[in-house]
Amino acid sequence: MARINVMQPWFGPEEVAAVGEVISSGWVAQGPRVAAFEEAFAQAMDAQYAVATTSCTTALHLAMIVAGVSAGDEVVVPSFSFIATANAVTYVGARPVFADVDHATGNLTAQTVAAAVTARTRAVVVVDQGGVPVDLDAIRAVTDPLGVVVIEDAACGAGSTYHGRPVGAGADVAAWSFHPRKIVTTGEGGMLTTANPQWAQRARRLREHAMSVSAAARHASVLAPAEEYLEVGYNFRMTDLQAAVGLVQLAKLPEVVARRRQIAARYAEQLDAIPGLRVVADPAWGTCNFQSCWVEVGEEFALDREGLLAHLAADEISARRGIMASHRQPAYADVDHGPLPVTERLTDTTLILPVFHQMTDDEQARVIASVRAAAGL
Ligand SMILES: *Cc1c(COP(=O)(O)O)cnc(C)c1O
Repeated sequence: MARINVMQPWFGPEEVAAVGEVISSGWVAQGPRVAAFEEAFAQAMDAQYAVATTSCTTALHLAMIVAGVSAGDEVVVPSFSFIATANAVTYVGARPVFADVDHATGNLTAQTVAAAVTARTRAVVVVDQGGVPVDLDAIRAVTDPLGVVVIEDAACGAGSTYHGRPVGAGADVAAWSFHPRKIVTTGEGGMLTTANPQWAQRARRLREHAMSVSAAARHASVLAPAEEYLEVGYNFRMTDLQAAVGLVQLAKLPEVVARRRQIAARYAEQLDAIPGLRVVADPAWGTCNFQSCWVEVGEEFALDREGLLAHLAADEISARRGIMASHRQPAYADVDHGPLPVTERLTDTTLILPVFHQMTDDEQARVIASVRAAAGL
């Protein structure tokens, strides 16, 4: 029996050809393809400016800096997220303040954010966890009157919508991931988007050592102008090899999201009615790309989460534990936090089912049959 993976990137001959063209051109580092990818991404995500980076983690790091988050500040974040969300806060010397999430969506809410803000809160990082859109307007109603910056960790969010617009478009600044576990991939890679021209310009500079003249501009001229280093910057540059892949992947996004939604709908139809199982669903305010199709395994189910994972593994199906809880990691053991009951419940009881573009109906039927067998059906 062939193994079914939780996720597989979807590549075709177009990506191979795009990389070949970049190599033939001789310009492989950040250059014209990165610029074209930024432009296409900004357009697709309804953003004014897009700045490509090496990962979502580095985009979040730059977002913290341009938003003015610094030592001594507090930043409200969900513990229920990949640890990079909290790490970006720590990189700039600020303190992550862990807030709880909503049971239905796994995201921050106006109530959980309101409970975590203090006079020292500089920013909040909202996450579209697993691609489920966060209810941004409700959170902004709490944070805007306080002058708190809203940073959106849209690592998982490409192709999800909020009130009809792409997620990320309503935040002050958003960060995106192109890791292969996400649904647009460049191997590794990330993007920062914002409507703020000063923030975009500073992020663009900071990602290449804060040079006054971009490397692309220097290499394009025969007599390179002298550059200055305006502040302490970073090397967070994406390569043209990656951007060429990203351009092809981005063009496929609508098709990929449509197929993922079809697969998720079939899981919901076949599994949601089983006592003790709940399949993640679109919230009232938007649509999900189902980057992660997670299932909560409740007490009524025959097995607990670990038991169901083992049952699936015995059938050569590689599901995954759900989203982590950052506050439980040794890295954040000495950060105080209030009670996080929903975070702890979801991180202990959820698992992520296989969903990938090229998944066949027969493969999905195998997953469904295995879960049903675990339920004694
Ligand atoms: C994957 C992920 C990240 C990290 O993305 P990288 O591109 O691997 O740095 C950050 N936040 C969330 C919510 C993620 O899912």
